Amino acid sequence: MTLSRDADYAHYLYTCNRCRSCTTNREQANVIVCPSYDHLGYFSYSGGGKGYVAQGILEGKVKAGPEAAEVAMHCLLCHACQTMCPPGFELITVARQLREWLVSRGIYGSAAHRRLLDNLRNSGNPWGLAPSKQITAEKLGLPARPGNAEAVLFLGCHSGFGKSSLENELKIVTAARAKVMVMEDEPCCGSPALELGDQNLFRKIAKKTIQKLNDLGVEKVVTICPHCTSALLNDYMEIGDLEPEVVHFSEWLLGLIDEGRLKLTKQASRLTATFQDSCHLTRYLEQGDVAREVLKQIDGLELVEMNRSVEAAFCCGGGSWADKVVPGLWRNTVRRRLREAAKTRATELIVTCPYCESSFQKARPNKMKVTSLARLVARQLTDYRQ
Ligand code: SF4
Ligand code: SF4
Repeated sequence: MTLSRDADYAHYLYTCNRCRSCTTNREQANVIVCPSYDHLGYFSYSGGGKGYVAQGILEGKVKAGPEAAEVAMHCLLCHACQTMCPPGFELITVARQLREWLVSRGIYGSAAHRRLLDNLRNSGNPWGLAPSKQITAEKLGLPARPGNAEAVLFLGCHSGFGKSSLENELKIVTAARAKVMVMEDEPCCGSPALELGDQNLFRKIAKKTIQKLNDLGVEKVVTICPHCTSALLNDYMEIGDLEPEVVHFSEWLLGLIDEGRLKLTKQASRLTATFQDSCHLTRYLEQGDVAREVLKQIDGLELVEMNRSVEAAFCCGGGSWADKVVPGLWRNTVRRRLREAAKTRATELIVTCPYCESSFQKARPNKMKVTSLARLVARQLTDYRQ
């Protein structure tokens, strides 16, 4: 699909009344919800504003050039605008298709934007890493064939190319005696192509991934990265029929605890923690309660929510490859979010997404430890301390 006046969403381009709910949350003392608007201060950079740019392009009033690309790429695809828009306009679809329109005409937001897409087209991952750098089932000590596996662990490019550790997830798998496998040459889920504006590439990757996952005959796919979860659950619906059930690791974890397959020890001392909603789990998939349910199972943990949380949560800055494509937007967003987290006086910031984790780590928080949900749970397993 490309930007079109005939698309289902096109009516909004003409009926948006500039109420600006996509920039600020009126129900909560006008706090800003759009990181791009927060960074640059103009409505054009918000979700609604991108709709106006799209409308201008379709009517030939806005030139599809570098200025339009600058607006299109100043966005984390965090979904806050769409969630807050009272009529529920499909702002994410428009933002993605605006990018598609530009990229298909060879217009990129920056050299880094072009490079990430070229890498994905040529090497199958956004970093352009050789296949030999991909983490294998053998390296993880897990089977690469279905056998009697109850689930396939879908690593995603971040963990699958060693950008984040899988040590804690493996500890959980072992403790639960779970029979999981990891695919040989796991393909990309395609979400980077969708986010960066090459929808043909996304469709090509998605078809291949659906086929490979269906061929395994395993009943469940457990995704480490929420961007993969969202692609497999939402975006694949238009591409093909993915047979296995798809759950994010946090949902699987909650199931393991509920079924009594994981035994958590008592905490020696109290822990005050705050929680970063993953945009994909909380807003795209409306699963913001899942990780919070897991947190309730941790003995002695007090959860202190940030001012902006659940559907109104502010992004970590790491969405849509912003740290590479629009570093100013990434920096402003991650610093604001860390300041907000620090105000809770929590000592740990819990995350469920490897991109949130690396975005916060890269910004070097000095007062707060960034901890993945898997690590928090692994710490509670018998004889594991860190
Ligand atoms: S919240 Fe929706 S209706 Fe209001 S300005 Fe934004 S896009 Fe338009
Ligand atoms: S997706 Fe997020 S960053 Fe992009 S326009 Fe909407 S609220 Fe702003």
